[in-house]
Amino acid sequence: MKRSAIAALSAILLLSLSGANAAEEKYVTIGTGGQTGVYYVVGQSICKLVNREQSKHGIKCTAPSTGGSVANLNAIRAGEQDMGVAQSDQQYKALKGEGDFEAAGPFKELRAVFAVHPESFTVVARKDSGIKTFDDLKGKRVNIGNPGSGQRATMDALMKEKGWDTSVFQLASELKAAEQAQALCDNKIDAMVYVVGHPNGSIQEAASSCDAIIVPVTGPEVDKLVQAYPYYAVSIIPGKMYPGSDEDVKTFGVTATFVSSTKTPDDTIYVVVKAVFDNFDRFKKLHPAFANLQPANMLKDGLSAPLHDGAVKYYKEKGWLK
Ligand code: GLU
Repeated sequence: MKRSAIAALSAILLLSLSGANAAEEKYVTIGTGGQTGVYYVVGQSICKLVNREQSKHGIKCTAPSTGGSVANLNAIRAGEQDMGVAQSDQQYKALKGEGDFEAAGPFKELRAVFAVHPESFTVVARKDSGIKTFDDLKGKRVNIGNPGSGQRATMDALMKEKGWDTSVFQLASELKAAEQAQALCDNKIDAMVYVVGHPNGSIQEAASSCDAIIVPVTGPEVDKLVQAYPYYAVSIIPGKMYPGSDEDVKTFGVTATFVSSTKTPDDTIYVVVKAVFDNFDRFKKLHPAFANLQPANMLKDGLSAPLHDGAVKYYKEKGWLK
């Protein structure tokens, strides 16, 4: 009798202790992309900087792997993620309720936090496939990306512009970003499409393990996209970044952006933004694709949603915004 009373008491004590902890700790999540991409490193890097100061602000940040831009925007809207990384074209389309977001309608609560690195629409092909241009993808086995990824959404936009549907390919697979380099090397596909910052692990894997080459993406339809929409730009993948690709490759691209919604409190976003910009040199060293980042550009490039109030507070303190 006495023993069980003690057990009950200590259980109550434990419960109240953990309850007290829960009140102090606040968990936030950042949606990223596949583990071999750059978004994963963006999320992990931001969380690392936030969590270093956890004893001060009580925020514990995690950045799981996800399906990519479209999945992140949908999860933020549903309140399942607090923040996420998303391509500038998808940020715009979510805000306006276009493309993949048409059924959901405009996402008015969407907020931009800052822009990150530039991303190129990157087509990688097996050397033995004979693919040398984007049009050569016709009749081939092509991984067009998993639904939910940014590459799939941008590929859909380019295909629409070209008047193509998936029947132009011998096979249109929907493998996730982290699976496609392996599939290319195993000769299950002839080419893969990835909208991603450079250099990155996935293209490195394809280039070094199976002689894959980067294919230019140019032509009137690409020119039209770049001219018609503010979120697309001409892009160059520099030569010598990967084995087998010595020359610069011309394509088009977007900007990776960090987004949230009005549902995420100002204090949380303030803590996250402060962690990144107070430790900016450290942040830039966490991935080679971050090397050229500059705060002035990060406050405007590819941002179509209004800035989050928590971010505005920090930028004003810094004198970066009036
Ligand atoms: N741009 C890709 C997407 O939106 C992700 C690229 C990456 O993971 O670095 O899904």
